[in-house]
Parts: sequence; C-alpha cells; structure tokens
Amino acid sequence: MSHFKAPPKKNLGQHFLTDRNIIEQIVHALDPKPGDLLVEIGPGQGAITFPLLKKHGHLTVIEFDRDLITPLSEAAHGLGELTIVHKDVLQVDFNKLGADQAIRLIGNLPYNISTPILFHVLSHCQKIRDMHFMLQKEVVDRMAAEPGSKVYGRLSVTLQALCEVIPLFDVPPHSFNPPPKVDSAVVRLIPRPADTVGIHDSAMFAAVVRDAFGQRRKTLRNALSKLCTSEQMQAVDIKPESRAEQLPVSAFIRLANLLSA
Ligand code: SAM
Repeated sequence: MSHFKAPPKKNLGQHFLTDRNIIEQIVHALDPKPGDLLVEIGPGQGAITFPLLKKHGHLTVIEFDRDLITPLSEAAHGLGELTIVHKDVLQVDFNKLGADQAIRLIGNLPYNISTPILFHVLSHCQKIRDMHFMLQKEVVDRMAAEPGSKVYGRLSVTLQALCEVIPLFDVPPHSFNPPPKVDSAVVRLIPRPADTVGIHDSAMFAAVVRDAFGQRRKTLRNALSKLCTSEQMQAVDIKPESRAEQLPVSAFIRLANLLSA
C-alpha cells in the first residue's frame, strides 16, 4: 500500500511524475556513477528518488512539505540510504552539503518558484558539478535561446554566462498527476569553471543585463543610459544603436567588466 496519502498541494507546485518512460529517461540522462553526490530538490512522492536510490544506493533530498517527510523515509526503507533535508530549498546552503565534493543536482522543480530556485542554485555554482531539471518548456526555451531569438533575454544571458545550457527532451502534461497546464522539458546545466566565466563584478554584470533587457525595444544607448556612455559601448565593440536581443553573452561581460574596472 502507498505510504503517500496527502493529495497534491497546488501552492507547493506539486505535479507528481507518473510516466515510467520519462522517469527512466531522466535517470538515464543523469547516468550516476559510483561515488557521485546526488542531491534532489523536491522529491515529492519519490517518482525519481526511489529509482535513483535503488540504482545508486544513497541520495540526499530537500523537501519543504512536512506531510511528505515520514512517508518518504518509510518508503525508502530497504532501498538505500536516503538523507532527507526538511527545508525550503531557498534556505539551503549547498556549500555545506557533502564536504568538498561537487554536487550533482536533480529536480522536477516546483514551477511557481523555479526562477528563484535557479538563481539560488547558481549562487552556489562552484559547488555544483551539473544539474538536471524539469521545468516549464517555455522557461527551458528562454534559458537556451540564442541572440536574435524573440525569447532571448535576461534569463538566457545570466544562465549562459555561468553554465552550458543543454535542453534534453520535452515532457507532455499527461506525464504528471495532476497534469500541469503547460508543456515541460528537461534541461542539463553544466557550470563553467570559475576561471573561464570572466565576469569581474557580478553585481555590475547583473545591472547591465537587467537594464539592457528592461527596455528591450529601446536601443542600448537609451536602455543603458544610466550605466554608461555610447563611447564606453563602442570601446568594447558594441554598437549603441543595437538592441539587447542582438547582443551575445560575451558582449554583456565585456561591457560589465569595462564599467567595473
Ligand atoms: N520529484 C517529484 C516528482 O517528480 O514527482 C515531485 C515534483 S513536484 C513538481 C515539486 C516538489 O517540490 C514537491 O514535492 C514540493 O513539495 C517540493 N517543493 C515545493 N516548494 C519547495 C521548496 N521551497 N523547497 C523544497 N521543496 C519544495
């Protein structure tokens, strides 16, 4: 009999994966190797957790819903060593998980707070080896968008500056209970080594990207007028009459570095 009695909670973004093929595809994409430190955000009723635990033998999960903590621990019995962190993932300091070892993060994320979770984990980027996340397909499209695309924006530039973004496969609503209203997709993020990112001042980089896309229809000359002059843009090979959506990630980094020098 199932250990899980409570119905899915909308306010916690609970859409439980029920499609075995998709679960297998996720485990296959993760391809855990002995010794890997696996951490799952939002295990829910264990759709991904238990297959991973059986395969890998140990796993740490971070779950906010108190009604799931005891059932998770009971259902894990005999499958492997499950460490349950009962916490809001936004309060978790990933640097304190698992000594010096880099984390492999995985999660079918609660869509209502997926962007804050992404930015929170990115602030621990150097502790993370890779991430496999289920998100709204629309978010994955924005994460992976290239310059010139309509959906290339703040999320694309911020993420691509810090990580390699690799969309893996799409997942339809009927793979979940209850089905979400939108299509989903699984994405792999691989943090770039710190010495190759090249951002000198992350606050300045964030400000440049925010202002550039805050007024995406405006030319960069107008959108960035509070932060820099046309001459400064030209000094790093940016045309002041161009728009943010045309600018590659490397150009945002060059401009931010010039302004923080
Ligand atoms: N992994 C399960 C699956 O695939 O069926 C559940 C995924 S469900 C989309 C998201 C999970 O994240 C839920 O279990 C929910 O309780 C949990 N969650 C929501 N907000 C959270 C938070 N702030 N911190 C940690 N977990 C959270």
